[in-house]
Amino acid sequence: MRIVCVGGGPAGLYFAISAKLRGAGHEITVIERDPPEATYGWGVVYWNDLLDIMHHNDPESARAVSAGSVLWQDQEIRLHGSRHDGTAYFGGYGYSMGRAALLEILTRRAQALGVDVRHGEKLDDPADLPEADIVVAADGAGSRIRQSRAERFGTEVDTGRNPYIWLGTDRQFESFVFDFEETPAGWIWFHAYPSIKGKISTCIVECSPQTWRGLGLDTLDPEDAVPLLEKIFHRALDGHNLISRSRGEPARWQRFSHLSNRTWVDGNVVLAGDAAHTTHFTLGSGTRLAMIDAIVLAHSLSQYPDPQVALREYDQHRRAELQPIQAAARTSMSWFEQLDDYLDRDPVSFAYAMSVRHGNQSSWRHRVHLATQIAAVRRARRAYESGKRWYEDRSRARGATAPAGTVTSRTAVEGHTRGTPEDPRTINSP
Ligand SMILES: Cc1cc2nc3c(=O)[nH]c(=O)nc-3n(C[C@H](O)[C@H](O)[C@H](O)COP(=O)(O)OP(=O)(O)OC[C@H]3O[C@@H](n4cnc5c(N)ncnc54)[C@H](O)[C@@H]3O)c2cc1C
Repeated sequence: MRIVCVGGGPAGLYFAISAKLRGAGHEITVIERDPPEATYGWGVVYWNDLLDIMHHNDPESARAVSAGSVLWQDQEIRLHGSRHDGTAYFGGYGYSMGRAALLEILTRRAQALGVDVRHGEKLDDPADLPEADIVVAADGAGSRIRQSRAERFGTEVDTGRNPYIWLGTDRQFESFVFDFEETPAGWIWFHAYPSIKGKISTCIVECSPQTWRGLGLDTLDPEDAVPLLEKIFHRALDGHNLISRSRGEPARWQRFSHLSNRTWVDGNVVLAGDAAHTTHFTLGSGTRLAMIDAIVLAHSLSQYPDPQVALREYDQHRRAELQPIQAAARTSMSWFEQLDDYLDRDPVSFAYAMSVRHGNQSSWRHRVHLATQIAAVRRARRAYESGKRWYEDRSRARGATAPAGTVTSRTAVEGHTRGTPEDPRTINSP
């Protein structure tokens, strides 16, 4: 089969890998407008479940991703306001990887499998799609292919209220840190986590539109805003710098587009990853979801001789899977848009409200949250989790000999649903 993927992000590249593993005879081309190693954004977080899924699907790229990732442990919620000044904690751990490094690994693996990855090649006119049996539109949230057929895909876009900017910093965080600062114009906060070991952390700054305007961020050139943000977050960054340019271009303030589609298939064109669905970054799952789409689509194509049936199966199955996750992401986005209702609380109560923003309150969860504030409890949990991690790493290494073709869409989906659709970044998973 001749397949063209438009977009060489996680969805396009991982689909190409997954499809080649299941059908070496497929002729697959990935068209990516950016040159190699030039991509937007900084690091992305992920959890054990993605590693499990990747190890089942393609142990080779899984090992490379694992080796290139940074571990972060615990989550700190720091509140610096006139009423309260202190830190609360969530337990747990996760991993993070620079987006450029992830794409480099996936590109190399795809090429080794015989995929034709063409960097610096852009699909200019979505009305003039490449000749292929199937075109995978993996061209991201701003997908021009999807936009050109918006009515047929039934696209709905809901734009978030809060401006955010995706930055890096040379401050090396070891935990996942939420820092909330009260300024005369209102509250502003960042979400930060390590991304390149010993070098760079990711730092996503967000605030309400009122604070944004009050601080003059609406009129400042985004690069000129960096010194102001460094000043506001001086204590949290420990005097370190923020970095605006990730691919030669300065980061820009944006508002999140929450988008969904009534169908992901139109003729031989199929949507995958952010082109099909977005999930707010406080869920930290867009990359993982894009890669699972890729596996499920590749699996479906390997199961059904008729490509139209395969696309329909993928569409129905995977789209249904995404609905509760997107709903959780929407709730998460709204919660951060209504932060003012919670910011008069002390840090521990505020952090608890954040952890149960999906409505999963219980007295048991509250007790675990209170216990997590005790340093000895966090130390014990870390020790237990390192043992668990060691065991899981060994199990993965043992299972790594399983042929990639044995993974089913169900495996990928089960792996995915094992994590909650709630925000793993802020859920104090016991
Ligand atoms: C601030 C922020 C933080 C995030 N943090 C996380 C996180 O911690 N963890 C996580 O899992 N996810 C995170 N995400 C989400 C994640 O970045 C996306 O969900 C993921 O990149 C989707 O992958 P994709 O391949 O579908 O799209 P993309 O990664 O956007 O890739 C699309 C590719 O298509 C290319 N392209 C576009 N148009 C064309 C064209 N016409 N011709 C050729 N090529 C084209 C683009 O250059 C791009 O490389 C975050 C997102 C944001 C905004």
